Amino acid sequence: MHDLDRLHFTGTVWRPPYEALSVLLQATTGCTHGACKFCSLYGDLRFRLSPLAEVEADLRIIARYQPRARRVFLVGANPFALSYGRLVRLIDRIRDFLPKVESIGMFARVTDIRPKSAEELRELRARGVTGLTIGTETGDDEALARMNKGTTAAETLEQCLRLDEAGIAYHLTYMTGLSGAGNGERAARATAELFNRLHPQVIGIVSLTLFPEAPLWQEVTAGTFVEAPERERLEELHTFIERLCIPVHLMGNTLSNTVPLSGRLPEDRTRLLAELQRALGAATECELAAYRKSIRHL
Ligand code: SF4
Repeated sequence: MHDLDRLHFTGTVWRPPYEALSVLLQATTGCTHGACKFCSLYGDLRFRLSPLAEVEADLRIIARYQPRARRVFLVGANPFALSYGRLVRLIDRIRDFLPKVESIGMFARVTDIRPKSAEELRELRARGVTGLTIGTETGDDEALARMNKGTTAAETLEQCLRLDEAGIAYHLTYMTGLSGAGNGERAARATAELFNRLHPQVIGIVSLTLFPEAPLWQEVTAGTFVEAPERERLEELHTFIERLCIPVHLMGNTLSNTVPLSGRLPEDRTRLLAELQRALGAATECELAAYRKSIRHL
């Protein structure tokens, strides 16, 4: 067997599109929370820390193939949940094997930031941790509670401002449709209001796409949650972009986006809004819904 076959990846490996050039290293498996109703990303995988020996074995292989790697992205739903001490030990090992590494990114939950002191966050930044991707999803507190996200908009604000203070860059996500039918405008306003107070480098835009493994699927089937129509989601996004007044890169070109969008604010605002208007003028609800239904995997 080839050595590469023996890297310790468990289940589906997720990474943001902008980490395509980063070395992927498994630091954790699954998610510490694992309770968001819309999520089926990690299935039944229980949260697990990768033992240091396992990480070292992977680093040994990676060092052979990419000895000049500059950026490492730690995979797993939220490796930033690791304690400060464990993260430092992990970073030290990465540097032992890959001395050219300049920065290290990973997914994080807002709740992973809270236990780390200001000094620890600054020290992690000094050791190269930056570009965290935080699944914020929405600024709409009703939706966050309904979806069992385990955070609030106020907490997102507080913890991301702490990252700002420590100089740790971050990327946020916005999931349209999460507030359910008829609530898109509320979600767009609340999310723009929250993000306008923060400094994300990138906002990744996705749209709610359910699979049978997600608890919310059962609620849709039972009629207790009504999914937002596709056209409402585009209008939601339109409102969000109109109201967002921070300089930021918007990336909405995943499979879940019925209308792929990408651009920089404020420069591309007019173009992005025109693209959404064009799509709203051209595509019927049926066509857009058929596209969503055709998605088999994110
Ligand atoms: S959405 Fe993120 S935080 Fe929520 S269960 Fe899924 S991986 Fe965990």
